[in-house]
Amino acid sequence: MKLHEFQSKQLFAQYGIPIPRGKVATSPEEARAIAKELGKPVVVKAQVLVGGRGKAGGIRLARTPEEAEQIAEQILSMTLKGLPVRRVLVDEAAEIQAELYLGLTIDRARRRVVAMASSAGGVDIEEVARTTPEKIVRVIIEPELGLREYQARTLAAGIGLDRSLWASFTQIALGLYRCFEENDATLAEINPLAVVPGPALLALDGKVIIDDNALFRHPDLAAMRDEDEETPTEREARKYGISYVQLDGNIGCMVNGAGLAMATMDIIQLYGGRPANFLDIGGGASAERVAAAMRLILSDPNVKAVLINIFGGITRCDEVARGMLAAFEMVHPRVPVVVRLVGTNEAEGRAILQQAQGVTLYTATTLVEAAQQAVRLAGDGRGPSMISGPEQRQ
Ligand code: GDP
Ligand code: MN
Repeated sequence: MKLHEFQSKQLFAQYGIPIPRGKVATSPEEARAIAKELGKPVVVKAQVLVGGRGKAGGIRLARTPEEAEQIAEQILSMTLKGLPVRRVLVDEAAEIQAELYLGLTIDRARRRVVAMASSAGGVDIEEVARTTPEKIVRVIIEPELGLREYQARTLAAGIGLDRSLWASFTQIALGLYRCFEENDATLAEINPLAVVPGPALLALDGKVIIDDNALFRHPDLAAMRDEDEETPTEREARKYGISYVQLDGNIGCMVNGAGLAMATMDIIQLYGGRPANFLDIGGGASAERVAAAMRLILSDPNVKAVLINIFGGITRCDEVARGMLAAFEMVHPRVPVVVRLVGTNEAEGRAILQQAQGVTLYTATTLVEAAQQAVRLAGDGRGPSMISGPEQRQ
């Protein structure tokens, strides 16, 4: 779950990270009142969960409360990368002398949290990584030790930060690490971390992503979820407790269990096909849930065939098959569906599926057979492609 800039910065403040004074407004009048209260030039910032708001015109300076009102009115009527702006953050404007980057994320290959800093802040860090990778300094964090002060100083030195700012930089880095750790974040970044007159450091922009699987431990953060920012597909999936990640292939997959879902995707790749999604319907495949999963899969226009791979353990195959029949009646799949149903009562389950109507259905007994059939039906003989797992997509 992504937090908005204003939410991220409020969280940062709880960990002693300096942020500008400011408040959120939902109307131009409110923006004017906040600017008046701050009594200084302000920056009006669109609160939408996309990057590059600055370049897209979603961040503008205002010298007077009147100007803040006008600018807020313009920004509040904008749509940034498909998302309507409903709120703006009105912050006291900072006099920026330099823009740094400081971020924490998980390096999956090393199985460690990694801290990164750069003197080339303000811009997209992916862009810096691509064009001038030498400008990013990294330290790997041992989980038992946490981020150490000497590591923060390594970052400070590595980006050529003036020594007078090292103590403050270290305090910010340690605070950001605690924030990351205690909130089960998968990303916490400050971009830009600005050098302002003093000199001092100030977190002007913040981005935090919380691990969805840990949200149950953070009801206060879960309550911050902004439903307006979810795509209809994501919202539907969450409503039914389905894990769904869209990919770029053409074989829709419906599987019970995350491990089995990964294995199903692997075997599709092995036979030269490309999965259109990762989808785990979880245990207890009720008709409603199967129908919801089918709707999610079919909402992707690229899908040319669907592969349903269900292992009946506690959930019996005959029950699942009945659920599928009901679901097919609700949804009427427009593409052929291959079903592999094994486990408890599988023969009964397959017999029930024979009665399916309004769908072109193939049943298979082995996963290999099912995968080959789906690849053939999708009419795609291209070789395996790179796909990313659900966790790598942000
Ligand atoms: P992003 O484009 O979505 O990453 O939004 P940011 O909050 O990072 O803002 C983009 C850019 O706007 C920053 O890199 C700064 O150059 C500029 N900016 C943001 N806040 C201020 C401010 O208070 N004063 C000044 N002068 N520029 C700012
Ligand atoms: Mn930024």
